[in-house]
Amino acid sequence: MGAPLVQCFFSALAALRAGLRECGSDLAVLENENPGEAIASLVKRLDAGAVFYNVDYEPHAIIRDANAERLLRHAGIDVHASIDHVYFGADEILQHDGSPYRIFTAYRRQWMERYGAEPRPPLRSSNKKFLSRRAIGTTESNPEASAFGFETSANFPEASEVLAHERLQTFARSRIGEYDRIRDVPATNGTSQLSPQLRAGTIGIRACVAAAENASKAAGARAGAQAWLSELVWRDFYQMILKHFSKVADGPFLERGEHVRWRRADGEFDAWSEGRTGYPIVDAAMHQLNTYGWMHNRLRMLVASFLAKDLLIDWRRGERYFEHRLADADLAANNGGWQWSASTGTDAVPYFRLFNPVLQAKKFDPDGAFVRSMLPQLERVPNRYVHEPWTMPPIIAADAGVTIGKDYPEPIVDHAMARKRALDAYSVFKR
Ligand code: FAD
Repeated sequence: MGAPLVQCFFSALAALRAGLRECGSDLAVLENENPGEAIASLVKRLDAGAVFYNVDYEPHAIIRDANAERLLRHAGIDVHASIDHVYFGADEILQHDGSPYRIFTAYRRQWMERYGAEPRPPLRSSNKKFLSRRAIGTTESNPEASAFGFETSANFPEASEVLAHERLQTFARSRIGEYDRIRDVPATNGTSQLSPQLRAGTIGIRACVAAAENASKAAGARAGAQAWLSELVWRDFYQMILKHFSKVADGPFLERGEHVRWRRADGEFDAWSEGRTGYPIVDAAMHQLNTYGWMHNRLRMLVASFLAKDLLIDWRRGERYFEHRLADADLAANNGGWQWSASTGTDAVPYFRLFNPVLQAKKFDPDGAFVRSMLPQLERVPNRYVHEPWTMPPIIAADAGVTIGKDYPEPIVDHAMARKRALDAYSVFKR
């Protein structure tokens, strides 16, 4: 885990506790290496009747929860698990023969059919009068990320139920209808930016699905709302993949992905992670990640492709880096995104498709607005050169106040050469 995720999650805990205290209740914050033991002693202290929890598909969480559940049951405590982190559980959308899907489009078709037949409306928060007012006894104060050695930042997202619902409402009211048209343009505020909230659990997936459904009914908003709903289905899909193919947490979904010979290239990895590749769109994207703990989806795909294909560096190193830098870091979605980009996953991009960073930049950031917002040293570079500043004639560079190699780096790799090298390394996919 990295600072943005921990800071964001702790902000959500603090908000939850404040909300509970306003109602005369409280949140018990427990620190114990053995969660089962900690919960069992709390149950005893409160004389509680049962324990309820939400299922988590991450491999370590499955073990953690099974151990805790065993210990609690052994102590005679009732335990109830619910599926709430995803809309449909990993075992609810399966192929006719009971095996899990591997292709998103087929999964989505069944997801939509089931959704049409059996929508799951958001669950209401329980009535305040049912909240426990019993004294919780020993509890920790609100945890602070810095106390655990994390470097915090005011730029990282915060999470709370109020913030999350406000964000969803604003998005559903004003932008969801355009989502299909502007979601790929990083300079616009075209996506919901709800991922840190969904990750922290300050909003439920059912509330998001219901908002998409309602927005679909508004004139002209259907295509945008349905495109957004599809993204929520991707989220369920990758959770399902992680549950059924837990090997993806450590390696490629496709066996042939094991045979690509990755380059070590530590210097190039550092340049990528610090946003010094000389490709403005890649560097601006990494700057967004490193500064704000969030990155636009189109850019995640682009920088992941750049690392795995242009630099031919093992995608798992990029995956780990994202894990430490994203406030929404989520094993299932992050792994799915990286494997998709590196062509080693389910339903991945064909191995011979390599994003050209300059063409992508020209397509999705045509006037360089995003690049300039993150890389002020390129502020005065004319549009024509902003995505390939190394081609600027010296006189124009002087006018823009940029010396390539000094104020902004030369490209660390030539895309045409890198493309050939990647196709060669990925030729193991042909066999
Ligand atoms: P919106 O476009 O508003 O979408 C709404 C929600 O749908 C998101 O909040 C998210 O929960 C879900 N969603 C959207 N796209 C995807 C997707 N492709 N896969 C799974 N869920 C999706 N998403 C994470 O939540 N955590 C990660 O660690 C993560 N790592 C990624 C790494 C790579 C290399 C790639 C290509 C994608 C990754 N994604 C990850 C998916 C996606 O980029 C983010 O969910 C999205 O950018 C979050 O912004 P948003 O909330 O504005 O999304």
